Amino acid sequence: MTTTTAPGLKTLAELPEVLSLLAPAETQAGNIDQIEFYERIKAAAEAGQARATAKLAEQRHDQEKAQGIPKSKRCKGLGAEIGLARKESPARGKQRLELARVLVENLPRTYQALCDGQIREEHAQAMANEISALPARHQREIDDILSDRLGAIGPRQLANEARAQVQRLDPQGAAKRLRDAEAERRVGIRPAAKGLSQLVAIGPTPQIAALCDTLRQEANSALSTGTTKDHRGESRTRDQLMFDMLIERGTGQAAAPAVPVEVMLVMTPDTLFAQGGTPAWLTGHGPIPAAVARDWLSQKDVSVLLRRLFTNPEANQVVGLESRARGFRSNLRKLILLRDNICRTPYCEAPIQDVDHITPRRDGGATAWENASGLCAACNQTKENRGWRHTGDSQGMQITTPTGHVYTVASQPVLPGRDPRPRTPRRPSSGQHDKEPADNPPQIPRAGGSQRCPEAGLFSTDKPTL
Ligand SMILES: [Zn+2]
Repeated sequence: MTTTTAPGLKTLAELPEVLSLLAPAETQAGNIDQIEFYERIKAAAEAGQARATAKLAEQRHDQEKAQGIPKSKRCKGLGAEIGLARKESPARGKQRLELARVLVENLPRTYQALCDGQIREEHAQAMANEISALPARHQREIDDILSDRLGAIGPRQLANEARAQVQRLDPQGAAKRLRDAEAERRVGIRPAAKGLSQLVAIGPTPQIAALCDTLRQEANSALSTGTTKDHRGESRTRDQLMFDMLIERGTGQAAAPAVPVEVMLVMTPDTLFAQGGTPAWLTGHGPIPAAVARDWLSQKDVSVLLRRLFTNPEANQVVGLESRARGFRSNLRKLILLRDNICRTPYCEAPIQDVDHITPRRDGGATAWENASGLCAACNQTKENRGWRHTGDSQGMQITTPTGHVYTVASQPVLPGRDPRPRTPRRPSSGQHDKEPADNPPQIPRAGGSQRCPEAGLFSTDKPTL
């Protein structure tokens, strides 16, 4: 940190604390002024991050060039380092790295607008995303043309206007890039607010628009003929009809709620057998209200794959299993998916794709619970880059990056929604925990004797082998 001084500050390192101590204004207008002031501070800080990021990329490039590393292999994993430093995902970190390079080198007006607080980083990112495929001279030209729009329009409109300029300057290239992008069409799922999920379909606009139009027309038709009742006899809105029609078409089921689902649902016995309020946990997604989880299990048409967990009663975390196999076998792998829930890299939040050895097999790392991490494909790849090192065990992991920074992540509780207040231990009624809760749920084999843990409400075990 520089030692440059500012009014009221001995060093810039004191700036965050000074800002945190500023009191709100006495008047409404004064508070609006404060909000605008903080926006300028944020934008100036984002410009500073861009400068530091661009300089870091230059330093890393020069260092690796001096080491004789081929050009195509320089700065590998640098985006993930940026992501960790900014507490963002590796994918977002890579985006920030590309933004910083183009902003500092080829978008002087956009960069200045960010320094001055006229725009936010979000605007600069929207612009950079659109023009990234163009040569530097075209990027500078668009920066110049749109300079009077900076601060006057939102990021989405700025992206649209930048894209229009890209298509004007490079019509053939723009058409080819759009056609090539159609190969990236895909469907996915994301968590949404209130425990719902979001269906994400990315593909050619005409096809997605046609799908929405078809659903809307059929829903309108049902509304006009009065045939809007669902399987329970309740009337549906246009939006509800469109959603139900989409699910029915996509799954082939006669009614949307009848869709068979196979999910990894974790819950305490109290939640499962009684009326306990601890939320269940849908692996890879998040908490589900206890009553809704019981409702899912009680529906005849819904097939829920329920897996029991072994937990550490104090930390409420899954404890060990071991395997001598080279790869992580099915049951051990499933338990690691339950333990880590999402990619273990801090801030990544991508779905787990690989169960990885923390200490690699080539360095003597065991295929064991204590040496396993659930990672997304990108993070698994990143850890193989120069200067990266993962250490840790089942309770947590440390990531050391090429600059020597260390980032630590602790294994999360299996059921984060449990009441943190201490409870009086009570012994559940005989046989309660051993009872199979669903129709022949898959068993997790146990060789070492497991024991009941009434306080944890789940199961603990002395490291059974698989
Ligand atoms: Zn990841």
